[in-house]
Amino acid sequence: MRIGFIGLGNMGAAIAANLLKARHEVTVWNRSAAKARSLVDAGAVLAATPKEAAAGKAAVITMLADDSALDAVLTGETGLIAGLDKGALHISMSTIAVATAERLTEEHRSRGQRFMCAPVFGRPEAAAAGKLFIVAGGDPADIEFADPVFRAAGQRVFAVGKKPSAANLVKLCGNFMILSAIESMAEAMTLAEKGGVQKAQLLEVLTGSLFDAPVFHNYGKTLVDGRFRPAGFAAPLGLKDMRLAGQSAETLRVPMPLLGLLRNHLLQTIAVEGEDIDWSGIGLTIAKNGGL
Ligand code: NAP
Repeated sequence: MRIGFIGLGNMGAAIAANLLKARHEVTVWNRSAAKARSLVDAGAVLAATPKEAAAGKAAVITMLADDSALDAVLTGETGLIAGLDKGALHISMSTIAVATAERLTEEHRSRGQRFMCAPVFGRPEAAAAGKLFIVAGGDPADIEFADPVFRAAGQRVFAVGKKPSAANLVKLCGNFMILSAIESMAEAMTLAEKGGVQKAQLLEVLTGSLFDAPVFHNYGKTLVDGRFRPAGFAAPLGLKDMRLAGQSAETLRVPMPLLGLLRNHLLQTIAVEGEDIDWSGIGLTIAKNGGL
């Protein structure tokens, strides 16, 4: 398939590389062009603008930091919207607000362009291995059309309905639950350690019994090793997701008291440790609060 790919950060670069490996024709664009170098070496074409990346393609994928990055790439004379052909498909893989996805659904529809959301679960290592979990929202025909892309990027696709924004709501719920798991593990590890039990031992018992799930294995190991840099998922992006979950909670009138606690721990961690720490770095804050 002829694909445009916009956004070559930790996730985007890995997904674009897998599309090339699967022999798709990929044209890439990134704000910092240097990040495109290895992909161009692997056979990608470098576009000068998002408009150029989108023009003449069956589908264009965006994998950008947040809503404002997506807006910056979409709009203006050199933007994606100006370049995307009528009938072509924009696949938004970034974690964005439900309201933004709803606005973009209308915007593309009014121009005769197709739009779907396909945010993902999985860290950059999973993206590199083509093992992402993809949450797809949109017209079933568009989800099927995008299947060759999803097969190159992920291990499983969950179709969650015709509304593209539904996929973002699922993704935000998931990230809220992941950070809740990190919070509870970090609190339990602090308690165990202060009581003289090694964190690693606690984790072995819990993941070997009742908590045998990837989120506990993977983030549990990060907490035990205390390796929060380089960030696979930077704390400011996690903070963005808690904010977006909070926006949906407010719109839908759902009290989420735990969300406020997670947001504050992320803020405290970023304030003390800096912007470059992984979101699981809340474990440092929790340990320090516990006197470790
Ligand atoms: P990242 O490494 O920080 O990359 C962000 C990308 O957005 C880069 O290509 C960056 O361009 C671009 N960007 C930022 N601001 C921009 C602007 N104003 N205009 C144009 N481009 C802009 O982020 P990531 O980890 O790949 O995450 C990408 C998306 O996937 C996010 O929505 C994130 O929430 C989601 N996600 C991440 C993970 C993870 O574990 N990392 C997992 C699942 C989902 P530059 O290179 O020029 O800065």
